[in-house]
Amino acid sequence: MLNLVLFGPPGAGKGTQSEKLIGKYGLVHISTGDVFRALNPDSDLAKLAKSYSDKGNLVPDEITIEILENEVAKHPDAKGVIYDGFPRTNTQAEALDKFLSSKGSGITMMVALDVNEGELKTRLLSRAKVSGRADDADPDIIQTRIDNYNKQTAPVADFYKSQGKLRLIDGIGSIDEIFNRICTAIDKG
Ligand code: AMP
Repeated sequence: MLNLVLFGPPGAGKGTQSEKLIGKYGLVHISTGDVFRALNPDSDLAKLAKSYSDKGNLVPDEITIEILENEVAKHPDAKGVIYDGFPRTNTQAEALDKFLSSKGSGITMMVALDVNEGELKTRLLSRAKVSGRADDADPDIIQTRIDNYNKQTAPVADFYKSQGKLRLIDGIGSIDEIFNRICTAIDKG
């Protein structure tokens, strides 16, 4: 199985690259952000998740881990999975390791996209015009998301680095250039 964690700050290109990777490697794409946005907006769970995401904050681990595990369970025959936007805390990374190892599986590698803060802000504001996402349109919320990434999420890279699984990719360039860099890293193993 090829299980990839596609990692990087908001606006790094995780969703864009995931779409290309699932085609090439035949993987299932699981984005916890997409799962939260697809919940019935009238449900308590959706309202709770939105109360965090609207402010640019992370949804609590307990809820997010359960959502993720339910999503993985929907794809028992997957050749592999791209985890996009998960794990975002060390607690989530530990839970994912435990969950996968209970199935005799594990993460193959973490592909981490490196993009500077100025470029992230430009990309998110431009994405807001097509995504309709309120959290992409407001510079203050963007800043909160980036700050939360630096504080809570960036340390997750060390979790995979200590397992020898971190592959750092330059996330600046054309979509195809970045895709080729990721494929080279995956194919090298
Ligand atoms: P994304 O689509 O990945 O940018 O996620 C949008 C929002 O969903 C985030 O700002 C968080 O509020 C929430 N979210 C998505 N994934 C996670 C996660 N792994 N842990 C906590 N919150 C998450």
